[in-house]
Amino acid sequence: MSDQEFVYNEAPYKKEHEARIIGISNEFGIKLDEPIFYPRGGGQPGDSGTIIVNGTHFKIIDTVKGPEGQVYIKIDDADNVTNLKEGTEITQRLAWDIRYKYMKTHTALHLLSVCLPFPVTGGQITFEKGRVDFDMPDSPNKEEITDKLNSMVEADYAVSYDLISQKELRERPQLIKTMSVKPPQNVDFVRLVRIGNSDNVIDLQPCGGTHVKSTGEIGKLFISKVEKKGRMNRRVSVVLQD
Ligand SMILES: [Zn+2]
Repeated sequence: MSDQEFVYNEAPYKKEHEARIIGISNEFGIKLDEPIFYPRGGGQPGDSGTIIVNGTHFKIIDTVKGPEGQVYIKIDDADNVTNLKEGTEITQRLAWDIRYKYMKTHTALHLLSVCLPFPVTGGQITFEKGRVDFDMPDSPNKEEITDKLNSMVEADYAVSYDLISQKELRERPQLIKTMSVKPPQNVDFVRLVRIGNSDNVIDLQPCGGTHVKSTGEIGKLFISKVEKKGRMNRRVSVVLQD
């Protein structure tokens, strides 16, 4: 059982949140009891922002996962951290504009995996774009995929969550589309992300990333590039229009 409550999972729209320092590691950074900062993983960058301690702002330059899945925030080396210690109460403030863009791009990549139902071998999100590597022999048509993506955005499908046991997940291996990022093994239940509703499921797969609450929030988007990365690999890049 983790001693942290990962607030970004339950409340991805939370921009500010109080917390307490429960550990400091030279290697990984500062551990909070209730982090709102999402740790780098699965191709999504770690969150940045600030923590505020008695009126002093400390810049958070990255958020990472420790060896057992704990979340650590990394403070800019230029900041003097001597008055941060275990037990210190702090306020977290997320760099929201950046995170919100990651949420939109990340959700768009789920839609892309619906348009291109091939095994996923890699993926990455940056501030500019998101990209996915598909195990597929032929290049898809950019315009066709762009139209499909935009129609799923316009349909404004809801995004919701369920938990699935490891046993059930083993019995339904078709739920796992991403071969490059395996669902966590050290937990009893894995989170399932559903796009659409139970009568009309558009996408359903295990995912620990941050998503918008409905696809309409993504806004217009387009396929910027399709690259051939090998005989059986196509890298497809998605860009948000605004
Ligand atoms: Zn996801």
